[in-house]
Amino acid sequence: MQTKHFEKLAAIVGKENLFYDKAHLIAYSYDATRERYEPDAVIFPKNEEDVSNILRYCNEQGIAIVPRGAGSGFTGGSLPAKGGIVLAFEKHMNKILEIDMDNMVAVVQPGVINIDLQKAAEAKGLFYPPDPASQEYSTLGGNVSENAGGMRAAKYGITKDYVMAVRAVRPNGDIIRAGKKTIKDVAGYNIAGILIASEGTLAVITEITLKLISKPKLKKTAMGIFPSVERAMEAVYKTMASGVTPVAMEFLDNLTIRAVEQKYHKGLPTDAGAILITDVDGNLSEEIVYQMEVIERVFLQNGCIEFKKARDDAEAADLWFARRNASQSITVYGSKKINEDITVPRSMLPELLKQINDVANRYRVKIPCFGHTGDGNVHTNVMVDGSNPKQLETGHKAIEEIFRITIDLGGTLSGEHGIGLSKAPFMHLAFTEEEMNLFRDIKRAFDPNNILNPGKMAL
Ligand SMILES: Cc1cc2nc3c(=O)[nH]c(=O)nc-3n(C[C@H](O)[C@H](O)[C@H](O)COP(=O)(O)OP(=O)(O)OC[C@H]3O[C@@H](n4cnc5c(N)ncnc54)[C@H](O)[C@@H]3O)c2cc1C
Repeated sequence: MQTKHFEKLAAIVGKENLFYDKAHLIAYSYDATRERYEPDAVIFPKNEEDVSNILRYCNEQGIAIVPRGAGSGFTGGSLPAKGGIVLAFEKHMNKILEIDMDNMVAVVQPGVINIDLQKAAEAKGLFYPPDPASQEYSTLGGNVSENAGGMRAAKYGITKDYVMAVRAVRPNGDIIRAGKKTIKDVAGYNIAGILIASEGTLAVITEITLKLISKPKLKKTAMGIFPSVERAMEAVYKTMASGVTPVAMEFLDNLTIRAVEQKYHKGLPTDAGAILITDVDGNLSEEIVYQMEVIERVFLQNGCIEFKKARDDAEAADLWFARRNASQSITVYGSKKINEDITVPRSMLPELLKQINDVANRYRVKIPCFGHTGDGNVHTNVMVDGSNPKQLETGHKAIEEIFRITIDLGGTLSGEHGIGLSKAPFMHLAFTEEEMNLFRDIKRAFDPNNILNPGKMAL
Protein backbone atom coordinates (compact mmCIF):
# COMPACT_ATOMS: atom_id res chain seq x y z
CA MET A 1 0.00 0.00 0.00
CA GLN A 2 1.29 3.46 -0.87
CA THR A 3 2.66 5.76 1.88
CA LYS A 4 0.03 8.39 1.11
CA HIS A 5 -2.68 5.94 2.18
CA PHE A 6 -1.01 5.34 5.55
CA GLU A 7 -0.82 9.11 6.06
CA LYS A 8 -4.50 9.65 5.22
CA LEU A 9 -5.64 6.75 7.40
CA ALA A 10 -3.43 7.88 10.30
CA ALA A 11 -5.08 11.30 10.04
CA ILE A 12 -8.46 9.60 10.54
CA VAL A 13 -7.70 7.21 13.43
CA GLY A 14 -4.49 8.61 14.86
CA LYS A 15 -1.03 7.12 14.34
CA GLU A 16 -1.38 5.14 17.56
CA ASN A 17 -4.24 3.10 16.03
CA LEU A 18 -2.64 2.24 12.69
CA PHE A 19 0.02 -0.47 12.45
CA TYR A 20 2.02 -1.86 9.57
CA ASP A 21 5.04 -3.30 11.34
CA LYS A 22 5.79 -6.97 10.63
CA ALA A 23 4.70 -8.17 14.09
CA HIS A 24 1.19 -6.77 13.62
CA LEU A 25 0.92 -8.03 10.06
CA ILE A 26 1.81 -11.55 11.20
CA ALA A 27 -0.42 -11.40 14.28
CA TYR A 28 -3.44 -10.51 12.14
CA SER A 29 -2.70 -12.91 9.28
CA TYR A 30 -4.40 -16.05 10.61
CA ASP A 31 -7.59 -17.53 12.00
CA ALA A 32 -8.57 -21.01 13.21
CA THR A 33 -8.11 -22.45 9.69
CA ARG A 34 -4.35 -21.93 10.23
CA GLU A 35 -4.11 -20.46 6.74
CA ARG A 36 -2.18 -17.19 6.52
CA TYR A 37 -2.57 -14.00 4.52
CA GLU A 38 -0.81 -10.85 5.67
CA PRO A 39 -2.70 -7.55 5.49
CA ASP A 40 -1.03 -4.28 4.49
CA ALA A 41 -2.11 -2.62 7.73
CA VAL A 42 -4.11 -3.21 10.91
CA ILE A 43 -6.40 -0.46 12.19
CA PHE A 44 -8.14 -0.19 15.57
CA PRO A 45 -11.02 2.26 15.03
CA LYS A 46 -12.00 4.29 18.11
CA ASN A 47 -15.65 4.65 17.19
CA GLU A 48 -18.29 4.40 14.46
CA GLU A 49 -17.24 7.71 12.95
CA ASP A 50 -13.70 6.36 12.42
CA VAL A 51 -15.18 3.26 10.76
CA SER A 52 -17.25 5.46 8.46
CA ASN A 53 -14.30 7.68 7.48
CA ILE A 54 -11.98 4.71 6.92
CA LEU A 55 -14.54 2.93 4.73
CA ARG A 56 -15.32 6.04 2.71
CA TYR A 57 -11.61 6.62 2.01
CA CYS A 58 -10.87 2.97 1.18
CA ASN A 59 -13.94 2.77 -1.05
CA GLU A 60 -12.71 5.78 -3.05
CA GLN A 61 -9.18 4.33 -3.28
CA GLY A 62 -10.19 0.69 -3.94
CA ILE A 63 -8.48 -0.63 -0.79
CA ALA A 64 -9.81 -3.92 0.61
CA ILE A 65 -11.13 -3.96 4.19
CA VAL A 66 -11.50 -7.09 6.31
CA PRO A 67 -13.44 -6.74 9.59
CA ARG A 68 -12.02 -8.99 12.32
CA GLY A 69 -13.29 -10.14 15.69
CA ALA A 70 -11.07 -12.59 17.55
CA GLY A 71 -9.97 -14.51 14.46
CA SER A 72 -11.47 -17.74 15.83
CA GLY A 73 -13.42 -18.44 12.64
CA PHE A 74 -13.05 -21.87 11.04
CA THR A 75 -13.51 -20.78 7.40
CA GLY A 76 -11.08 -17.91 6.82
CA GLY A 77 -13.68 -15.12 7.11
CA SER A 78 -11.29 -12.73 8.84
CA LEU A 79 -8.29 -13.51 6.62
CA PRO A 80 -7.15 -10.67 4.34
CA ALA A 81 -7.03 -12.94 1.30
CA LYS A 82 -6.51 -9.98 -1.05
CA GLY A 83 -4.39 -7.88 1.31
CA GLY A 84 -5.63 -4.45 2.39
CA ILE A 85 -6.66 -3.42 5.87
CA VAL A 86 -7.74 -5.51 8.82
CA LEU A 87 -10.23 -3.56 10.94
CA ALA A 88 -10.07 -4.86 14.51
CA PHE A 89 -12.44 -3.90 17.33
CA GLU A 90 -10.78 -5.42 20.38
CA LYS A 91 -8.98 -2.27 21.51
CA HIS A 92 -11.64 0.45 21.59
CA MET A 93 -14.99 -0.82 20.32
CA ASN A 94 -15.34 -3.50 23.00
CA LYS A 95 -17.82 -2.05 25.48
CA ILE A 96 -21.17 -3.23 26.80
CA LEU A 97 -23.03 0.05 26.35
CA GLU A 98 -26.23 -0.82 28.17
CA ILE A 99 -28.13 -3.61 29.87
CA ASP A 100 -31.73 -2.44 29.77
CA MET A 101 -33.49 -4.41 32.51
CA ASP A 102 -36.96 -3.08 31.69
CA ASN A 103 -36.86 -4.21 28.07
CA MET A 104 -34.48 -7.14 28.67
CA VAL A 105 -31.95 -6.14 26.02
CA ALA A 106 -28.23 -5.47 25.87
CA VAL A 107 -26.57 -2.94 23.59
CA VAL A 108 -22.95 -3.81 22.79
CA GLN A 109 -20.05 -2.84 20.57
CA PRO A 110 -18.80 -5.53 18.16
CA GLY A 111 -15.56 -6.28 20.03
CA VAL A 112 -17.27 -7.47 23.24
CA ILE A 113 -16.28 -11.06 24.04
CA ASN A 114 -19.28 -13.41 24.19
CA ILE A 115 -18.61 -14.64 27.77
CA ASP A 116 -18.35 -11.06 29.06
CA LEU A 117 -21.90 -10.37 27.95
CA GLN A 118 -23.09 -13.67 29.42
CA LYS A 119 -21.52 -12.76 32.78
CA ALA A 120 -22.82 -9.18 32.73
CA ALA A 121 -26.34 -10.42 31.95
CA GLU A 122 -26.18 -13.10 34.68
CA ALA A 123 -25.00 -10.53 37.22
CA LYS A 124 -28.36 -8.84 36.64
CA GLY A 125 -30.35 -12.08 36.75
CA LEU A 126 -30.68 -12.26 32.96
CA PHE A 127 -29.44 -14.75 30.39
CA TYR A 128 -27.76 -14.52 26.96
CA PRO A 129 -28.00 -18.13 25.71
CA PRO A 130 -25.79 -18.35 22.55
CA ASP A 131 -22.60 -20.00 23.84
CA PRO A 132 -20.23 -21.10 21.05
CA ALA A 133 -17.42 -23.31 22.33
CA SER A 134 -15.21 -20.29 21.55
CA GLN A 135 -17.23 -18.16 24.00
CA GLU A 136 -14.15 -17.27 26.09
CA TYR A 137 -12.59 -15.35 23.20
CA SER A 138 -14.91 -14.95 20.19
CA THR A 139 -16.58 -11.55 19.82
CA LEU A 140 -20.23 -10.68 19.43
CA GLY A 141 -19.40 -8.92 16.13
CA GLY A 142 -17.91 -12.20 14.89
CA ASN A 143 -20.82 -14.22 16.36
CA VAL A 144 -23.40 -12.07 14.55
CA SER A 145 -21.40 -12.09 11.32
CA GLU A 146 -21.20 -15.90 11.39
CA ASN A 147 -24.57 -16.46 13.11
CA ALA A 148 -22.80 -18.58 15.71
CA GLY A 149 -24.49 -21.46 17.46
CA GLY A 150 -23.59 -23.18 20.71
CA MET A 151 -24.32 -25.99 23.13
CA ARG A 152 -27.72 -24.59 24.14
CA ALA A 153 -29.09 -24.08 20.63
CA ALA A 154 -31.42 -27.11 20.71
CA LYS A 155 -33.69 -25.23 23.12
CA TYR A 156 -32.61 -21.59 22.92
CA GLY A 157 -31.72 -21.15 19.27
CA ILE A 158 -28.71 -19.40 17.76
CA THR A 159 -27.32 -15.86 17.54
CA LYS A 160 -29.92 -14.70 14.99
CA ASP A 161 -32.68 -15.45 17.49
CA TYR A 162 -31.26 -12.76 19.81
CA VAL A 163 -30.31 -9.96 17.39
CA MET A 164 -32.93 -7.23 17.62
CA ALA A 165 -31.05 -4.42 15.90
CA VAL A 166 -27.67 -3.44 14.52
CA ARG A 167 -25.90 -0.27 13.52
CA ALA A 168 -23.53 -0.74 10.61
CA VAL A 169 -21.43 1.18 8.11
CA ARG A 170 -21.68 0.58 4.39
CA PRO A 171 -18.51 0.66 2.28
CA ASN A 172 -19.41 4.19 1.04
CA GLY A 173 -19.30 5.38 4.66
CA ASP A 174 -23.09 5.58 5.17
CA ILE A 175 -24.14 4.72 8.71
CA ILE A 176 -27.30 2.61 8.83
CA ARG A 177 -29.59 1.47 11.65
CA ALA A 178 -31.56 -1.74 11.20
CA GLY A 179 -34.09 -3.05 13.71
CA LYS A 180 -35.25 -1.70 17.07
CA LYS A 181 -35.47 -2.63 20.74
CA THR A 182 -39.06 -3.62 20.01
CA ILE A 183 -40.24 -7.25 20.02
CA LYS A 184 -42.05 -6.58 16.76
CA ASP A 185 -40.81 -4.54 13.81
CA VAL A 186 -42.08 -5.19 10.31
CA ALA A 187 -41.34 -1.79 8.81
CA GLY A 188 -39.13 -2.07 5.75
CA TYR A 189 -36.81 -4.85 4.60
CA ASN A 190 -35.17 -6.95 7.31
CA ILE A 191 -31.69 -5.49 6.84
CA ALA A 192 -30.45 -6.78 10.20
CA GLY A 193 -31.46 -10.25 8.96
CA ILE A 194 -29.36 -9.80 5.82
CA LEU A 195 -26.33 -8.65 7.82
CA ILE A 196 -26.50 -11.66 10.17
CA ALA A 197 -24.14 -14.34 8.77
CA SER A 198 -22.97 -11.97 6.02
CA GLU A 199 -19.37 -12.66 7.15
CA GLY A 200 -18.17 -9.07 6.85
CA THR A 201 -18.89 -8.93 3.11
CA LEU A 202 -21.72 -6.34 3.14
CA ALA A 203 -21.18 -3.80 5.92
CA VAL A 204 -19.17 -3.32 9.10
CA ILE A 205 -21.27 -3.85 12.23
CA THR A 206 -20.62 -1.15 14.82
CA GLU A 207 -23.31 -1.78 17.43
CA ILE A 208 -25.61 -4.71 18.28
CA THR A 209 -28.82 -4.82 20.31
CA LEU A 210 -29.40 -8.30 21.73
CA LYS A 211 -32.40 -9.87 23.39
CA LEU A 212 -31.88 -11.23 26.91
CA ILE A 213 -34.16 -13.70 28.67
CA SER A 214 -34.70 -14.92 32.22
CA LYS A 215 -32.28 -17.54 33.40
CA PRO A 216 -33.84 -20.88 34.39
CA LYS A 217 -32.93 -21.86 37.94
CA LEU A 218 -32.45 -25.62 37.59
CA LYS A 219 -30.52 -27.85 35.22
CA LYS A 220 -29.87 -31.59 34.98
CA THR A 221 -27.57 -33.67 32.80
CA ALA A 222 -27.79 -37.25 31.54
CA MET A 223 -25.89 -39.53 29.17
CA GLY A 224 -27.29 -42.31 27.01
CA ILE A 225 -25.08 -45.11 25.68
CA PHE A 226 -26.16 -46.67 22.36
CA PRO A 227 -25.10 -49.81 20.47
CA SER A 228 -24.94 -48.04 17.10
CA VAL A 229 -24.72 -44.50 15.86
CA GLU A 230 -27.88 -44.93 13.73
CA ARG A 231 -29.94 -45.92 16.80
CA ALA A 232 -28.57 -42.93 18.70
CA MET A 233 -29.55 -40.63 15.83
CA GLU A 234 -33.07 -42.08 15.83
CA ALA A 235 -33.26 -41.36 19.55
CA VAL A 236 -32.24 -37.74 18.85
CA TYR A 237 -35.01 -36.81 16.45
CA LYS A 238 -37.63 -38.84 18.28
CA THR A 239 -36.76 -37.14 21.58
CA MET A 240 -36.88 -33.69 20.01
CA ALA A 241 -40.35 -34.51 18.66
CA SER A 242 -41.60 -36.03 21.93
CA GLY A 243 -42.96 -32.86 23.53
CA VAL A 244 -39.93 -31.98 25.66
CA THR A 245 -37.17 -29.59 24.59
CA PRO A 246 -33.73 -30.47 25.90
CA VAL A 247 -31.28 -27.57 26.16
CA ALA A 248 -28.59 -29.70 24.54
CA MET A 249 -28.51 -33.01 22.70
CA GLU A 250 -24.86 -33.66 21.84
CA PHE A 251 -23.29 -36.82 20.43
CA LEU A 252 -19.99 -38.61 20.05
CA ASP A 253 -19.48 -41.55 17.72
CA ASN A 254 -17.39 -44.62 18.49
CA LEU A 255 -14.16 -43.23 16.95
CA THR A 256 -14.48 -40.07 19.02
CA ILE A 257 -15.25 -41.98 22.23
CA ARG A 258 -12.16 -44.12 21.70
CA ALA A 259 -9.99 -41.08 20.97
CA VAL A 260 -11.06 -39.32 24.20
CA GLU A 261 -10.52 -42.53 26.17
CA GLN A 262 -7.06 -43.07 24.64
CA LYS A 263 -6.08 -39.56 25.70
CA TYR A 264 -7.77 -39.16 29.09
CA HIS A 265 -8.62 -42.65 30.45
CA LYS A 266 -12.03 -41.68 31.83
CA GLY A 267 -13.60 -45.14 31.67
CA LEU A 268 -15.75 -44.32 28.64
CA PRO A 269 -17.64 -47.16 26.94
CA THR A 270 -15.24 -47.79 24.04
CA ASP A 271 -17.44 -50.50 22.53
CA ALA A 272 -20.49 -48.23 22.31
CA GLY A 273 -21.65 -47.14 18.84
CA ALA A 274 -22.36 -43.64 20.16
CA ILE A 275 -23.19 -41.66 23.26
CA LEU A 276 -25.67 -38.82 23.65
CA ILE A 277 -25.30 -36.15 26.31
CA THR A 278 -28.33 -34.11 27.17
CA ASP A 279 -29.25 -31.22 29.48
CA VAL A 280 -32.70 -30.12 30.53
CA ASP A 281 -33.54 -26.97 32.47
CA GLY A 282 -36.48 -25.17 34.06
CA ASN A 283 -37.64 -23.45 37.22
CA LEU A 284 -39.50 -26.29 38.94
CA SER A 285 -37.99 -29.63 39.94
CA GLU A 286 -41.16 -31.39 38.70
CA GLU A 287 -40.50 -29.92 35.26
CA ILE A 288 -36.95 -31.30 35.27
CA VAL A 289 -38.01 -34.73 36.51
CA TYR A 290 -40.75 -34.93 33.87
CA GLN A 291 -38.41 -33.97 31.01
CA MET A 292 -35.77 -36.47 32.13
CA GLU A 293 -38.37 -39.25 32.36
CA VAL A 294 -39.56 -38.59 28.82
CA ILE A 295 -36.01 -38.51 27.46
CA GLU A 296 -35.06 -41.71 29.28
CA ARG A 297 -38.18 -43.45 27.94
CA VAL A 298 -37.53 -42.39 24.33
CA PHE A 299 -33.84 -43.30 24.60
CA LEU A 300 -34.67 -46.79 25.95
CA GLN A 301 -37.30 -47.32 23.24
CA ASN A 302 -34.55 -46.61 20.71
CA GLY A 303 -31.97 -49.09 21.89
CA CYS A 304 -30.21 -47.15 24.67
CA ILE A 305 -28.16 -49.67 26.67
CA GLU A 306 -27.57 -47.46 29.69
CA PHE A 307 -28.99 -44.11 30.83
CA LYS A 308 -26.83 -42.30 33.40
CA LYS A 309 -28.26 -39.33 35.31
CA ALA A 310 -25.88 -36.89 37.00
CA ARG A 311 -26.71 -36.45 40.70
CA ASP A 312 -24.79 -33.19 41.12
CA ASP A 313 -22.72 -30.62 39.23
CA ALA A 314 -19.52 -32.65 39.56
CA GLU A 315 -21.15 -35.69 37.96
CA ALA A 316 -22.66 -33.48 35.25
CA ALA A 317 -19.20 -32.09 34.46
CA ASP A 318 -17.93 -35.68 34.28
CA LEU A 319 -20.64 -36.64 31.76
CA TRP A 320 -19.81 -33.56 29.67
CA PHE A 321 -16.04 -34.21 29.78
CA ALA A 322 -15.92 -36.41 26.68
CA ARG A 323 -17.90 -33.92 24.57
CA ARG A 324 -15.86 -30.93 25.71
CA ASN A 325 -12.61 -32.71 24.87
CA ALA A 326 -13.72 -34.40 21.65
CA SER A 327 -12.20 -31.91 19.23
CA GLN A 328 -8.64 -32.02 20.55
CA SER A 329 -8.72 -35.79 21.19
CA ILE A 330 -9.38 -36.92 17.63
CA THR A 331 -5.94 -35.72 16.53
CA VAL A 332 -4.82 -39.23 17.57
CA TYR A 333 -6.07 -40.23 14.08
CA GLY A 334 -3.99 -37.80 12.02
CA SER A 335 -2.11 -34.53 12.13
CA LYS A 336 -4.59 -32.75 9.84
CA LYS A 337 -8.29 -32.48 10.61
CA ILE A 338 -10.49 -31.42 7.71
CA ASN A 339 -13.46 -30.45 9.83
CA GLU A 340 -16.83 -29.40 8.53
CA ASP A 341 -20.09 -28.55 10.26
CA ILE A 342 -22.72 -29.98 7.95
CA THR A 343 -26.34 -29.86 9.09
CA VAL A 344 -29.39 -31.88 8.03
CA PRO A 345 -33.03 -32.04 9.08
CA ARG A 346 -32.86 -34.09 12.29
CA SER A 347 -34.79 -37.07 10.85
CA MET A 348 -32.01 -37.46 8.25
CA LEU A 349 -29.28 -37.91 10.88
CA PRO A 350 -29.32 -41.76 10.83
CA GLU A 351 -28.95 -41.82 7.03
CA LEU A 352 -26.27 -39.10 7.09
CA LEU A 353 -24.14 -40.97 9.61
CA LYS A 354 -24.59 -44.25 7.70
CA GLN A 355 -23.43 -42.61 4.46
CA ILE A 356 -20.47 -40.90 6.14
CA ASN A 357 -19.38 -44.33 7.34
CA ASP A 358 -19.63 -45.62 3.73
CA VAL A 359 -17.44 -42.70 2.55
CA ALA A 360 -14.87 -43.49 5.27
CA ASN A 361 -14.70 -47.13 4.14
CA ARG A 362 -14.48 -46.26 0.44
CA TYR A 363 -11.73 -43.66 0.86
CA ARG A 364 -10.01 -45.60 3.65
CA VAL A 365 -9.90 -42.60 5.97
CA LYS A 366 -11.02 -42.19 9.55
CA ILE A 367 -13.95 -39.78 9.97
CA PRO A 368 -14.75 -39.28 13.65
CA CYS A 369 -18.00 -37.36 14.12
CA PHE A 370 -19.48 -35.52 17.07
CA GLY A 371 -21.59 -32.44 17.60
CA HIS A 372 -24.85 -30.70 18.14
CA THR A 373 -27.26 -33.39 16.96
CA GLY A 374 -30.18 -31.67 18.67
CA ASP A 375 -29.74 -29.09 15.88
CA GLY A 376 -29.00 -31.69 13.18
CA ASN A 377 -25.44 -30.31 13.18
CA VAL A 378 -22.61 -32.84 12.83
CA HIS A 379 -18.92 -31.97 13.13
CA THR A 380 -17.43 -34.26 10.51
CA ASN A 381 -13.67 -34.64 10.76
CA VAL A 382 -11.73 -36.28 7.95
CA MET A 383 -8.38 -37.14 9.56
CA VAL A 384 -5.26 -37.34 7.39
CA ASP A 385 -1.51 -37.00 7.61
CA GLY A 386 -1.08 -33.30 6.82
CA SER A 387 2.43 -33.83 5.42
CA ASN A 388 1.19 -36.36 2.85
CA PRO A 389 -0.22 -34.59 -0.27
CA LYS A 390 -1.91 -37.76 -1.51
CA GLN A 391 -3.76 -38.22 1.79
CA LEU A 392 -4.76 -34.56 1.77
CA GLU A 393 -6.18 -34.94 -1.73
CA THR A 394 -8.11 -38.06 -0.66
CA GLY A 395 -9.42 -36.19 2.39
CA HIS A 396 -10.71 -33.30 0.29
CA LYS A 397 -12.43 -35.71 -2.12
CA ALA A 398 -14.12 -37.43 0.83
CA ILE A 399 -15.32 -34.06 2.12
CA GLU A 400 -16.75 -33.10 -1.26
CA GLU A 401 -18.69 -36.34 -1.31
CA ILE A 402 -19.98 -35.69 2.21
CA PHE A 403 -21.15 -32.24 1.10
CA ARG A 404 -23.05 -33.81 -1.82
CA ILE A 405 -24.68 -36.35 0.51
CA THR A 406 -25.66 -33.58 2.92
CA ILE A 407 -27.27 -31.49 0.18
CA ASP A 408 -29.10 -34.56 -1.18
CA LEU A 409 -30.54 -35.15 2.30
CA GLY A 410 -31.93 -31.61 2.36
CA GLY A 411 -29.09 -30.23 4.47
CA THR A 412 -26.66 -27.32 4.34
CA LEU A 413 -22.90 -26.88 3.89
CA SER A 414 -22.60 -25.09 7.21
CA GLY A 415 -24.66 -24.97 10.39
CA GLU A 416 -22.46 -22.45 12.16
CA HIS A 417 -18.95 -21.90 10.78
CA GLY A 418 -19.96 -20.10 7.60
CA ILE A 419 -18.49 -20.20 4.10
CA GLY A 420 -15.53 -17.79 4.06
CA LEU A 421 -12.70 -19.06 1.91
CA SER A 422 -12.80 -22.75 2.85
CA LYS A 423 -16.28 -23.58 1.62
CA ALA A 424 -16.50 -21.09 -1.24
CA PRO A 425 -15.53 -23.79 -3.80
CA PHE A 426 -18.57 -25.83 -2.74
CA MET A 427 -21.24 -23.13 -2.96
CA HIS A 428 -22.26 -24.41 -6.42
CA LEU A 429 -23.29 -27.71 -4.81
CA ALA A 430 -25.79 -25.95 -2.59
CA PHE A 431 -27.08 -23.07 -4.72
CA THR A 432 -28.24 -22.69 -8.30
CA GLU A 433 -26.69 -20.07 -10.58
CA GLU A 434 -29.87 -18.00 -10.19
CA GLU A 435 -29.52 -18.09 -6.41
CA MET A 436 -25.84 -17.18 -6.60
CA ASN A 437 -26.76 -14.27 -8.87
CA LEU A 438 -29.17 -12.98 -6.24
CA PHE A 439 -26.37 -13.15 -3.64
CA ARG A 440 -24.12 -11.22 -6.05
CA ASP A 441 -26.83 -8.58 -6.60
CA ILE A 442 -27.16 -8.11 -2.83
CA LYS A 443 -23.38 -7.81 -2.54
CA ARG A 444 -23.31 -5.18 -5.32
CA ALA A 445 -26.12 -3.19 -3.67
CA PHE A 446 -24.08 -2.87 -0.46
CA ASP A 447 -20.56 -2.91 -1.87
CA PRO A 448 -20.42 -2.04 -5.59
CA ASN A 449 -16.62 -1.66 -5.55
CA ASN A 450 -16.10 -5.02 -3.81
CA ILE A 451 -13.84 -3.64 -1.07
CA LEU A 452 -15.41 -5.49 1.87
CA ASN A 453 -13.87 -8.89 2.50
CA PRO A 454 -13.29 -9.65 -1.20
CA GLY A 455 -12.76 -13.21 -2.40
CA LYS A 456 -15.09 -14.80 0.14
CA MET A 457 -18.31 -16.82 -0.23
CA ALA A 458 -17.81 -17.25 -4.01
CA LEU A 459 -19.44 -13.88 -4.57
C1 LIG B 1 -12.19 -24.00 19.50
C2 LIG B 1 -13.28 -23.34 18.69
C3 LIG B 1 -14.59 -23.66 18.97
C4 LIG B 1 -15.63 -23.09 18.22
N1 LIG B 1 -16.91 -23.40 18.53
C5 LIG B 1 -17.91 -22.83 17.85
C6 LIG B 1 -19.27 -23.13 18.18
O1 LIG B 1 -19.56 -23.88 19.11
N2 LIG B 1 -20.23 -22.55 17.45
C7 LIG B 1 -19.94 -21.70 16.42
O2 LIG B 1 -20.88 -21.19 15.80
N3 LIG B 1 -18.67 -21.41 16.09
C8 LIG B 1 -17.66 -21.94 16.78
N4 LIG B 1 -16.37 -21.63 16.45
C9 LIG B 1 -16.07 -20.74 15.31
C10 LIG B 1 -15.92 -19.25 15.68
O3 LIG B 1 -15.54 -19.10 17.04
C11 LIG B 1 -17.21 -18.49 15.41
O4 LIG B 1 -17.44 -18.45 14.01
C12 LIG B 1 -17.20 -17.06 15.96
O5 LIG B 1 -18.48 -16.50 15.77
C13 LIG B 1 -16.17 -16.15 15.29
O6 LIG B 1 -16.03 -15.00 16.10
P1 LIG B 1 -14.69 -14.11 16.03
O7 LIG B 1 -14.89 -12.95 16.93
O8 LIG B 1 -13.50 -14.93 16.25
O9 LIG B 1 -14.76 -13.61 14.52
P2 LIG B 1 -13.67 -13.71 13.37
O10 LIG B 1 -13.25 -15.11 13.17
O11 LIG B 1 -12.63 -12.70 13.60
O12 LIG B 1 -14.56 -13.24 12.13
C14 LIG B 1 -15.59 -14.04 11.66
C15 LIG B 1 -16.30 -13.31 10.50
O13 LIG B 1 -16.98 -12.19 11.01
C16 LIG B 1 -16.61 -11.01 10.31
N5 LIG B 1 -16.68 -9.91 11.29
C17 LIG B 1 -16.13 -9.86 12.53
N6 LIG B 1 -16.48 -8.72 13.14
C18 LIG B 1 -17.28 -8.03 12.27
C19 LIG B 1 -17.94 -6.77 12.31
N7 LIG B 1 -17.88 -5.98 13.37
N8 LIG B 1 -18.65 -6.38 11.22
C20 LIG B 1 -18.74 -7.17 10.12
N9 LIG B 1 -18.11 -8.35 10.04
C21 LIG B 1 -17.40 -8.79 11.10
C22 LIG B 1 -15.22 -11.31 9.78
O14 LIG B 1 -14.92 -10.52 8.65
C23 LIG B 1 -15.33 -12.77 9.46
O15 LIG B 1 -15.91 -12.96 8.18
C24 LIG B 1 -15.31 -22.18 17.18
C25 LIG B 1 -13.98 -21.85 16.92
C26 LIG B 1 -12.97 -22.41 17.66
C27 LIG B 1 -11.55 -22.05 17.36
